[in-house]
Amino acid sequence: MHRFFVSPSLITVEKSFRLEGEIAHQLGRVLRLGPGAQILLLDGTGKEYVAELGQFQMQKNSTSVEGRILEERIAGNEPKTHVTLFQSLLKGEKFDYVLQKATEIGVSAFVPVLSERVIGGGSPNKLERWRKIVREAAEQSRRGLLPIVAEPIIFEQALKQATNEGLGLLAWEDEKTLSLKKALQGSNQVQRVNLLIGPEGGYSSAEAEQARQAGVISVSLGPRILRAETAGPTATALILYELGDM
Ligand code: SAM
Repeated sequence: MHRFFVSPSLITVEKSFRLEGEIAHQLGRVLRLGPGAQILLLDGTGKEYVAELGQFQMQKNSTSVEGRILEERIAGNEPKTHVTLFQSLLKGEKFDYVLQKATEIGVSAFVPVLSERVIGGGSPNKLERWRKIVREAAEQSRRGLLPIVAEPIIFEQALKQATNEGLGLLAWEDEKTLSLKKALQGSNQVQRVNLLIGPEGGYSSAEAEQARQAGVISVSLGPRILRAETAGPTATALILYELGDM
């Protein structure tokens, strides 16, 4: 059954809905679904609805369709551990890649970070594109919740947020003693992990020291140096695996 994240406001109490724009176009013209077809609508907050399509209205430049909700249920498929990936901004499409792969793996929230060695930055229109990438990856991977993509913040703010609640970890390529595995041992009750991953140029020793002082734990991902776009999804998978979510 095709699945789509839609705004919660779209689902009316009378259990009917009206879809228009890109989603209606995809349903009617790309997937060529018709009246009676069933789809799954997810409101992004943990609920999903089995929905039956009614008549399509297809004008030259616009498509819309109404329908009714047949069943409401709790959306599953979510890890019990809430991982927030504080990813330093990356050049070109590498950041897109991190968003897509880490969404499939199970990240709950993305926070773009402007750390010392970031080259180039985010911009409002990038945010819209990033959120579209995450929505499409969440639909494809059958996520029950839609991961959040926050506005970019500076490194100091990321450290504050990463120590606000849960376990704050900074993957540091120069960390020689503490492995990610060891840092997670004894914390299988942890519900929330906040993971910082650096940019192509990595973190400076000053940043690593700042993180330590803020109570964020530096961890190694092993002796091999991963590309930044490899490190985020990989570390997320390792965390979810270690905590029994994969
Ligand atoms: N400065 C690094 C170097 O020596 O080539 C490059 C940084 S690496 C491409 C980008 C980010 O991925 C790092 O800042 C870190 O967050 C993470 N990372 C990559 N390999 C890692 C490893 N073996 N241990 C811990 N973190 C790693």
